[in-house]
Amino acid sequence: MQHRVLWQKAIVEEIIDETPRTKSFRLRIDDRPPFRSGQHYDVRLTAPDGYQAQRSYSIASAPESEGVIDLTIEIIESGEVSPFFHQVVKVGDEIKMRGPIGGPFTWTSDTGGPLLLLAGGSGVVPLMSMLRHRSAAGSSVRTALIYSARTTVDVIYRDELGNFESEDTEVRSTITLTREDDAGWTGERGRVSTRLIDDALAFLKTTNAKVFVCGPDGFVEAAAELALAAGVPFQSIKTERFGPSGT
Ligand SMILES: Cc1cc2nc3c(=O)[nH]c(=O)nc-3n(C[C@H](O)[C@H](O)[C@H](O)COP(=O)(O)OP(=O)(O)OC[C@H]3O[C@@H](n4cnc5c(N)ncnc54)[C@H](O)[C@@H]3O)c2cc1C
Repeated sequence: MQHRVLWQKAIVEEIIDETPRTKSFRLRIDDRPPFRSGQHYDVRLTAPDGYQAQRSYSIASAPESEGVIDLTIEIIESGEVSPFFHQVVKVGDEIKMRGPIGGPFTWTSDTGGPLLLLAGGSGVVPLMSMLRHRSAAGSSVRTALIYSARTTVDVIYRDELGNFESEDTEVRSTITLTREDDAGWTGERGRVSTRLIDDALAFLKTTNAKVFVCGPDGFVEAAAELALAAGVPFQSIKTERFGPSGT
C-alpha cells in the first residue's frame, strides 16, 4: 500500500564527518515509515522572511535502522541547502522532511541479484543503503561496486566498504580515483571504464546483473552506456541523477 508523503519533523540526532566535503546527518523521525534502499527524502528549509528552498537527499542507512534515517550531504560551496547543512545545522535541530520517495531505483534483498553498483562521488549514498541492507538482511547476493571518487580523501564510507569486502567473499568493491593526489594509492585510477565494468561482470559471472547507477548527470550517462555496451540488458539498468557535475 502506498503511504501518503507528508512533511514531517525530524530531529538531528548525530552529525558524522565523513570526508572534508561530506557529512552524515542522523535524523530521528516519529513513526518513521518503512523505506526501500535507493529511496530519498525531500528536505525543506524556510528562511525568516518565508523564502523556501527544497532539495532531495538519498537515504544512506539501511531500512533495518529503527526510527532514524541517515543522509550524507556533500557541500556545494555556491549552493543554498548543502552549505546550510554543513555550516548551520547542529545536533538537536528540527528539519522539515518529506519521504520516502522513489520507485524504480530501489533494491530489496528479495529482489535478488547479482548486483552491479556504479557510483560517482556522492552517488555512492543510495548504493551504500543497498549494501547496508544486504548485510543487515543476511543476503548472499553477489555484489560488485565500482566507485569513482576524486581523491583518496573524497572516498566516503571507505572503512565500511573495506569491511564489507573483507568479511564477505560475495562482495567486491573497486574504488577508482579521477585525480591523482596520493602517490601511495595502489588501486585503480581514472574514470569508470569498459575494463572495470568487464572485470566486475566477470566477478558476477553474468552480464544479466541488476545495475544501479548514481551520481552527477554526466557520470550516470557515461556509466550506463558502458554497462549497456558490456551486454547488460537495458531494462536491468536503473539510474538516479543528482544534478550537474562538480568542478
Ligand atoms: C533524487 C536525488 C537524490 C540526491 N541525493 C543526494 C545525496 O545523497 N547527497 C548529496 O550530497 N546530494 C544529493 N542530491 C543533490 C542535492 O539534491 C542538491 O542538488 C545538492 O545538495 C546541491 O544543492 P544546493 O542547494 O547546495 O546547491 P544549489 O543552490 O542547488 O546549486 C548551486 C550551484 O551548484 C550547482 N550544483 C547543484 N548540484 C550540484 C552537484 N550535485 N554537484 C555540483 N554542482 C552542483 C548548481 O548548478 C548551481 O550552480 C540528490 C539529488 C537528487 C535529485
